[in-house]
Amino acid sequence: MSLAHGRPYLAIPGPSVIPDRVLSAMHRASPNIYAGALPEMVAGLWPDLKRLAGTTGHVGIWLANGHGAWEAANSNLFSRGEKALVLSTGRFGLSWAESASKAGIEVELFDFGRSTPADPNRLESALRADPRHEIKAVLVTQTDTSSSLRNDIAALRAAIDAAGHPALLAVDGIASMGCDEMRMDDWGVDLIVGASQKGLMVPPGLGLIWASERAVARCKGADLRTPYWDWTPRFNATEFWQHWYGTAPTHHLFGLRESLDMIFEEGLEAVWKRHKALARAVWAAFDAWGADHPHIALNVADPAQRGHGVTAARIGPAPAATRLRAWTETRAGVTLGIGLGMDTADDPRSDGSLRVAHMGHVNAHMTLGALAVMEAGMQALNIPHGAGAVEAAARVIAQSA
Ligand SMILES: *Cc1c(COP(=O)(O)O)cnc(C)c1O
Repeated sequence: MSLAHGRPYLAIPGPSVIPDRVLSAMHRASPNIYAGALPEMVAGLWPDLKRLAGTTGHVGIWLANGHGAWEAANSNLFSRGEKALVLSTGRFGLSWAESASKAGIEVELFDFGRSTPADPNRLESALRADPRHEIKAVLVTQTDTSSSLRNDIAALRAAIDAAGHPALLAVDGIASMGCDEMRMDDWGVDLIVGASQKGLMVPPGLGLIWASERAVARCKGADLRTPYWDWTPRFNATEFWQHWYGTAPTHHLFGLRESLDMIFEEGLEAVWKRHKALARAVWAAFDAWGADHPHIALNVADPAQRGHGVTAARIGPAPAATRLRAWTETRAGVTLGIGLGMDTADDPRSDGSLRVAHMGHVNAHMTLGALAVMEAGMQALNIPHGAGAVEAAARVIAQSA
């Protein structure tokens, strides 16, 4: 029997759950793109997007997914042949490096693997070994959604400064904006890449770039720019169409307005705290499942190095994780994330990893429900696991709420 009939929960982690308020805000007739409600509403989006990132710099929106937003970042930061140092902590770090390299940027890649964060000391020595300042920017993912590793962005900036190097710091915040703490100006971040479909709770389709004055000045002549990706007309738009270099993403913008209202009504710091509490509940459940069952384990050992919007874990032996995902989706209406980039297809451990999202429009009953459903699936499938996981998660919620 399936007990999946009811509201499904996509916890994969992106696209994330779209709030009814966002859906309702998008449910309207096509607006006039030359005057009236849309341009008037959009004028207020820019200051709120800057507030979200903690910056007084610039922000722009491209009709694109995250891969498109990477290209916006790459093409505005670099000229052909200029050098990027990429600090990778998972599949998305590697993909950004690939995107930069294919665009004609010279990429030096530090691959920190899938379970350890980017090392500020190694960054500092690499920059000290670059006296001619050939490295124009350091590219790093704040939370890599595949590994769920979270990098210490302020510490990486401190390492750049300690080396006395002028490199810009560019951060992929696609999975962390609206989930993990971000203080762009305080932390000395020069560029953030964002997308609508994760912590921002809007369907995929908007790529965002926040840029510091320093990045705009330093990258003025970057020759990888093509007219669509160039941030100059967008950051200096005097006519509405220039913000999008064409037709505006009309309905997505109304959705984004609503999601920002929701974030600021709750309070940005409260949003970060909610994500942290839900993350800790998930971690507590995995710790209980994995006690005396080493085939179940969180991917990142140190809680301080874990993102708060997604948790990557091993549920072995393969194919236990894949079987469990199928069970939770078809029997209980919870779709969990695949173990992205954690195993290669020919790896015998493939199908032994998964991810639980707790990103965006998610509350205690959704996370506790997802964990209880996972518990039920492990029981139904005879996947050996420790006892007390749901109780442990409930305890975290009881102490946080
Ligand atoms: C989802 C994600 C991306 C890719 O976004 P797409 O919209 O799939 O192109 C890039 N980086 C991070 C950290 C992500 O979470």
